[in-house]
Amino acid sequence: MPKPIVAVVGRPNVGKSTLVNRIAQGRDAIVHESRGVTRDRSYHEADWNGVEFVLVDTGGIETGRTDDAFSGRIREQALAAVEEADAIVFVVDGRTGATEEDEAVARILRRSDKPVFLCVNKVDDPTNEAALWDFYSLGLDEPRALSALHGTGTGDLLDDLVGSFPEEVAHDDVYPEGTVNIAIIGRPNVGKSSLVNRIAGRTRSIVSDVAGTTRDAVDIVVERDGVPFRIVDTAGMRKRSVVHEDIEYYSMVRGLRAIDEADVCLLVVDSSEGMTEQDQKIAGLAIERGCALVVLLNKWDLADTDRKREECVMSVDRRLDFAPWAPRLRISALTGRSVDKIWALVAQVCENRSRQVPTSALNDLLQRLRETGHTVSRDRKRLRIMYGTQTGSRPPVFAFFCNYPEVVDDNFRRYLENRLRENFDLEGTPVRLRFRRKD
Ligand code: GDP
Ligand code: GDP
Repeated sequence: MPKPIVAVVGRPNVGKSTLVNRIAQGRDAIVHESRGVTRDRSYHEADWNGVEFVLVDTGGIETGRTDDAFSGRIREQALAAVEEADAIVFVVDGRTGATEEDEAVARILRRSDKPVFLCVNKVDDPTNEAALWDFYSLGLDEPRALSALHGTGTGDLLDDLVGSFPEEVAHDDVYPEGTVNIAIIGRPNVGKSSLVNRIAGRTRSIVSDVAGTTRDAVDIVVERDGVPFRIVDTAGMRKRSVVHEDIEYYSMVRGLRAIDEADVCLLVVDSSEGMTEQDQKIAGLAIERGCALVVLLNKWDLADTDRKREECVMSVDRRLDFAPWAPRLRISALTGRSVDKIWALVAQVCENRSRQVPTSALNDLLQRLRETGHTVSRDRKRLRIMYGTQTGSRPPVFAFFCNYPEVVDDNFRRYLENRLRENFDLEGTPVRLRFRRKD
C-alpha cells in the first residue's frame, strides 16, 4: 500500500519544521530540495502506532521578496498540497493571530476535499483557549492548539491524522500471488508516463483503482508469460496543466513512495541528457532499499549520432559506478523500440534478487579465494574468512565468519562482491555483505 502523503503547509516561522521534526522523531530527511529548487523542502518518513506515512515539509518560502510574490508562493504551495497530498496539516501561529496569508491559504484549502487539520502552534500553555478564537474565522475545521516545541497536542493531531487515512487493504487480497511490484522512477519529463501508456496500451492490462487504497494511487497490472507485473502508483505520472516546482517535488516524493513498495525499480533516464546527479541519487535510494535496478535509456531515438550515444553511455557508467551490475536497456517510449524487452529483464533481475546460493557453493568459492592468497590486513591483523552462508534474500544477504571483521574495508568488500557476482547470477540485484567474528 503506498504510504499516504501528508503535506505540512503554512507561512514561514510558524513552526512547520519543528512540528515535522517532532513527528518524524528526528529521523533525517530522505531528500532535500530537488534540482533547480532553491527553497528547501524535505521528505520524512514517519509512523504513528504502526501506521506509516510520509511527511512533506514544504518549508521555507523565501522571505525578503515583494509581498505579491510572497503570497503568490504561499498560494502555489497550498495548491500543490491540495492536488498532490492525501492529507494537509495547516500550521498557523497562535501568537500572531490569523494573517492575510493565512486567509489566502485557507481559501484554497476550503475548496479541497482532502482532510485538512488546522493547527494553531506555539500555544505553549494548553489552557490558553483564547489563542484559538481568532482562527475560527478561517472557516476550516475546528482549530486545535499545539506546541510543536513542547509536544502538547501532537498526539491528538496524529490520532486524527492517521484516522483520516483510508483503510488498508492487504496486498494478498488484491494482487495475485507472485506479483512483481515495479516502480518506474526518474526525473520529470524523462518519459515515464509515455512508457506507462505504451505498456498499458499494447498489452492486456487492468487498471486497478483499488477501493480503499490511498486516494489517487493507481496501479497497472500487466501479465506477461504468466507472471503478473504490477506497476505501483502511476497516478503521479498523469499529465498536468500546471507544472511548477512544488508539483515536481511531490512527483519525486511519489516516486520514492513507490520505491518502498517495489521489488524492481526501472530508472528512466533521458538519453539526450544522459544520467544526471538527480538520477544518481534516485538510483542510490532504490538500492539502499534493496530493490533490483534496471536502467532504461529512454529517448534513444534522439541519440542519433555516435557521439551522443557514447556520451550517454559514459554518463551512466560514471554516475552508476557503485552499481555496475544494473542492466541497461536502450528504449524509446515514442517509437516502441525494445519496450517489449523490459519484461524478460525484470523477470530475470527479480529471480536474481530471490536467489539462494547454496552454502557449499559459497564455501567452494571461499576456498578458491583463500588459495589466491588475496586478503586484507591492518595492524598485523590478517583477515581470514572461515566460512560463509547466505542469511537473507530479496535482496541476498551473505554473512562471512572471520577472525577480524574490523579490518574489512570498502576495497575488500568490493573485491568479494565482484567475486560473488562472477560466480553466481546476481545481475540487477543489490547484495549485502556482513562480516561476523568467529574466534
Ligand atoms: P517554519 O519556518 O514554519 O518551519 O518554522 P520553524 O519550525 O523553523 O520555527 C520557527 C520558530 O518558532 C523557531 O524559532 C521555533 O523554535 C519556534 N517554535 C516552533 N514551534 C514552537 C512552539 O510550539 N512554541 C514556541 N514558543 N516556539 C515555537
Ligand atoms: P514524464 O514526466 O517522465 O512522465 O515524461 P513524459 O512521458 O511526459 O514525456 C516527456 C516528453 O518526452 C513528452 O513530450 C514525450 O512525448 C517525450 N518522450 C517520451 N519518451 C520519448 C522517446 O522515447 N523519444 C522521444 N523523442 N521523446 C519522448
